[in-house]
Amino acid sequence: MSFDLATIVVLAVALGVLMGVLQLATWLQMREETPLALWGLADLLCVFAAMVSVFDGGYRSPLVAPLASACFLLASGAIYLGMRAFDGARIAPWGIALVAASAIGFALVSILFLRHSVNARIVLFTFIICGWLAAAAWRLVRVRRHASTFTRVLTAVFLSLLCAFHLARLVAAAFGAGNDASHISASALALALAVGLFCVVGLNCGAIFMVLDRLASCDDLTGLSNRRALLRAGERLCRAAVARGRPLSVLLADLDHFKSVNDAYGHRTGDRVLQAFAAIAGEMVRPGDLVGRYGGEEFCIVLPGADAEAATVVAERLRDRVARGLESLDGLPLHVTVTIGLASLEADGMPDPSVEALIDAADAALYAAKDGGRNRVIRAQPRSARPLPGLPPFAQPTA
Ligand code: GH3
Ligand code: MG
Ligand code: MG
Repeated sequence: MSFDLATIVVLAVALGVLMGVLQLATWLQMREETPLALWGLADLLCVFAAMVSVFDGGYRSPLVAPLASACFLLASGAIYLGMRAFDGARIAPWGIALVAASAIGFALVSILFLRHSVNARIVLFTFIICGWLAAAAWRLVRVRRHASTFTRVLTAVFLSLLCAFHLARLVAAAFGAGNDASHISASALALALAVGLFCVVGLNCGAIFMVLDRLASCDDLTGLSNRRALLRAGERLCRAAVARGRPLSVLLADLDHFKSVNDAYGHRTGDRVLQAFAAIAGEMVRPGDLVGRYGGEEFCIVLPGADAEAATVVAERLRDRVARGLESLDGLPLHVTVTIGLASLEADGMPDPSVEALIDAADAALYAAKDGGRNRVIRAQPRSARPLPGLPPFAQPTA
């Protein structure tokens, strides 16, 4: 089967420009979504570079081909910077300088020293581009807090395919017929464009899904999972725990007298308190745990693998850290405390265990803790446990 270069070129231009312009147009609507701008720019750079190489006649010119390759390197650097931005990192000038240096450096070295050695240029190019793509993939491992596993895996697959594509090209150049990539045929160039296009479209879809996923599942103010994402992920963890007979606990934390913080210091300070609480809770949990904003000033923490005793220790530590950490904020004497209701899968004896049922049980315990005076942890008791006098059966003190 041979590929028609003209058809593939038209397809590549149409799809590449469409993807790039769509991402840039979306970014114009949501300026805080910097990754969209960088990934859109990367698309347009790729289109430009592909066009240059085609009109150059398939990487024949020792001057134009390095410039086209430099554009591909700029694009891959922009993909990496987009991943960094997605991870919440600032796009530092040194990052931009490094991307530009890798592209300009490649072009200069190629033109000045590797004019007549196409294969050496391919080795250098592959080394740099795979470096950027691998760095982007590494960022994907880090951004687990911001996007679902599915969207990250989807993006990682296409990043890896793109890497594999460049490595295959390197091998083909080293061991291929004639051992000279400057004689690339139109059909081979079309095939390369088609494979590259396939990877770029897949990468774009994965990246856009990641942004959409984050927008749909992240609480804007605190950066934690929102209620929808929390319930969805919590239910998955709960089902897995039931299936494996493993313990799992849920904490429902409610800031005490939070309305009075707003009333006394204004909503902006209230928002800062919510962010500070989210940071404290996020720091305290283990990597597999789940922290989400359940609503208003209520937060839910799902602790897979933690039985009631272990969860009580976590809850007490959180309560203590909040009482000390939010005694004051920005110089204001706030004295914010938190009350926590706790329910455990292994202890509650519920006939149809689910994360919502656990939250309900933790909520009932939370209400009892509020009635009991706030700034405390109360855990829902198993049905079989005898209630202590004076408290409802679902709400027995931990100590
Ligand atoms: P309790 O100890 O019984 O929980 O009292 P509380 O004042 O914390 O509870 P209440 O339900 O009376 O008030 C909750 C307050 O939380 C009221 C609401 O304005 C505030 N709140 C909810 N969401 C936000 C938010 O995003 N930002 C700010 N600043 N305040 C919020
Ligand atoms: Mg509340
Ligand atoms: Mg409250």
